[in-house]
Amino acid sequence: MALMLYNTLSRQKEEFKPQHPSRFWFQKPSVSLYTCGPTVYDYPHLGNMRTYIFEDVLKRTLTINGYNVKHVMNITDVGHLTSDSDEGEDKMDKASVKFGKTPSEVAKFFTKIFKENLNDLNIIKPDKWTPASKYIKEQIELIKRLETKGFTYETNQAVYFNVLKFPNYTKLSRQNLADKNIGVRQEVIVDRQKKHPADFALWFKLTGRFKNHLQHWPSPWGEGFPGWHVECSTMAMNTLGDTVDIHCGGVDHIAVHHTNEIAQSEAATGKQFVRYWLHGEFLIMTQDKMAKSEGNIITVDSLKTKGINPLAFRYLCLGVHYRSPLSFSWESLQSAQEGLNNLYDKMMAIQKLLLNMHLGKKSEKIETYRQKFLTAINDDLNTPQALSITWEVLKDNLDDSDKRELLIWFDEILGLGLEKIKTVTIPSKVNKLIKEREKARLEKNWSQADNLRREIEKLGFRVEDSDTGPQVKVKR
Ligand code: AMP
Ligand code: ZN
Repeated sequence: MALMLYNTLSRQKEEFKPQHPSRFWFQKPSVSLYTCGPTVYDYPHLGNMRTYIFEDVLKRTLTINGYNVKHVMNITDVGHLTSDSDEGEDKMDKASVKFGKTPSEVAKFFTKIFKENLNDLNIIKPDKWTPASKYIKEQIELIKRLETKGFTYETNQAVYFNVLKFPNYTKLSRQNLADKNIGVRQEVIVDRQKKHPADFALWFKLTGRFKNHLQHWPSPWGEGFPGWHVECSTMAMNTLGDTVDIHCGGVDHIAVHHTNEIAQSEAATGKQFVRYWLHGEFLIMTQDKMAKSEGNIITVDSLKTKGINPLAFRYLCLGVHYRSPLSFSWESLQSAQEGLNNLYDKMMAIQKLLLNMHLGKKSEKIETYRQKFLTAINDDLNTPQALSITWEVLKDNLDDSDKRELLIWFDEILGLGLEKIKTVTIPSKVNKLIKEREKARLEKNWSQADNLRREIEKLGFRVEDSDTGPQVKVKR
């Protein structure tokens, strides 16, 4: 079945075909995937994590389609300024002052948090992490190549990429370079020797506002540090080759970061840099995107503090197509949590029945449902549709073992941790507390009933009151 992906470059859905078909019939064809990683200067927020969830679904979809995915993600620990153009301070330097730690201590701390957040959200880790500060030599090599080919110029402050030298510079964003000028001119132009406002820095020198920059390395242009864009071009090409199959990020990267990556890479190699560009839409708070600069961020840890399973956020994201903006609200997250709990309960019920069940012949519907699910997910990762097929299976009169088989298979894409749902025996202590709570309720002793409910929750269970009496469920 064809896998269709929306390519930002062509602005249409295209059938995915890897650049290297497998050499032997028994070998899986491999796919190179580069995803822009976090700038490790602060806690990642749920907006960032929405993009990583979309990329995880993409990777799982490629895998289920029989590809061997080679995935690289960078860690930006130097050179990302507070504005994506060349204005502002280096985010790592700023954080270093704020936290009173060295940039590498800050990077280490937030990289660890980021990796924990990936775990919490069931996001499969990349095969290779590439921290920018570990690829300085390679970045200098790339800048030297660009210099030799005449794509750069040097000022007192930096080495720039000359965008007018690169034909079709705005092919990804489809912006008019003249319009881009206006946008850029509105910002403070720091370097007056810059030839074109859209020219971007490849190497910053230790001078002017960066005189006391904390992280710096020697280079042919003097002590300094690399720009943010050159790191991704360098690390993508060094680890995955001159042409990468798929490159992803959030939509904010289209106009500047990815546009600049294309310019640098293609100017250096003369080859196409990326075959499929995929971009995830924003998670927004009322009108604005969730961003540290907007002061409206929510982190994975803050969900945990509120007793919300981070996978409820994953479930929320799956319910909206990755190319549509998703408005965040606590109410929608709460409903996602209920939806997920419901799914877990259904999964648990299936498991329970399975224990005493004779496994008969598999239904033919299994294959039909598999195809249906794959058709949805192969249509540019239609996760809302995939979720509704999941619920359709649960409501079907299929045999429980067939349902279970399908759900476990669906979960290879959804990543909601369904395989971990096991039948749980309620401990006698919990049973005793439930009886005591029922008695307190009948006696209208509400505060006692509440205390007992809390004790039950501490033991990892929750009680739901229904017409037929209290229902005990696992607290997640
Ligand atoms: P950063 O750490 O700022 O480099 O961003 C990491 C990733 O998160 C990038 O792919 C961004 O495009 C993405 N991103 C940033 N803000 C949001 C948001 N509000 N919603 C979705 N993705 C975002
Ligand atoms: Zn990048």
